[in-house]
Amino acid sequence: MNKFQILVVEDDAPVRNLITTTLKAHNYRFITATNGEGAVMEAASHNPDIILLDLGLPDLDGVEVITRIRGWSNVPIIVISARSEDSDKIDALDAGADDYLTKPFSVDELLARLRVTQRRLALIRNNTVQDSCYENGQLCIDYAKRCVYMADEELHLTPMEYKLLCLLAKNTGKVLTHKYILTNVWGNSLESDVGSLRVFMATLRKKLEKTPGAPQYIQTHIGVGYRMIRVE
Ligand code: CA
Repeated sequence: MNKFQILVVEDDAPVRNLITTTLKAHNYRFITATNGEGAVMEAASHNPDIILLDLGLPDLDGVEVITRIRGWSNVPIIVISARSEDSDKIDALDAGADDYLTKPFSVDELLARLRVTQRRLALIRNNTVQDSCYENGQLCIDYAKRCVYMADEELHLTPMEYKLLCLLAKNTGKVLTHKYILTNVWGNSLESDVGSLRVFMATLRKKLEKTPGAPQYIQTHIGVGYRMIRVE
């Protein structure tokens, strides 16, 4: 039995059934809620490991549900949104969601997102002590020395590139929105700065990735932001 318990919040019965059938087939434990108030209540009373949250709920706005849950819990939240709710998806990530799935999604996509989140969760639970070194695949960040290595070769990053890399590393597995990155690296989030973020990201990737066109470490989420991938 998979020890992870998932709270599935979805008002659309066919989608809810698809999700719960998939979870059952892969030995996840789950509970369900069909509206926002129910989601907040179930989250509080069952303390699930991961929440799958549909953004279009009949009573509360999905973003409101995230804000309420974030008031007391850091439980990973994967939002499920329709394509027409793209801006809601970004608001959800900014409110503290970890990842997203866009409808219609495949069972494989759902399982992949759950695995990413489980790995992220395992990492958080094992890292109660602040590590002075970050290791991921061939990438190594020595926070004390402010040095970055790729396959034991030192990378020469500018202070901004270093800051950007550290932010992504500290949130490995989580999708960070443009706004979140701009606020945390530059201290502001003007829409016009997305262009300069893209330029910094391109130069960082040139130093980091073997094939910048097919990045292994930093994934682009078009129109949304970036995510550091856990490399095996
Ligand atoms: Ca819905």
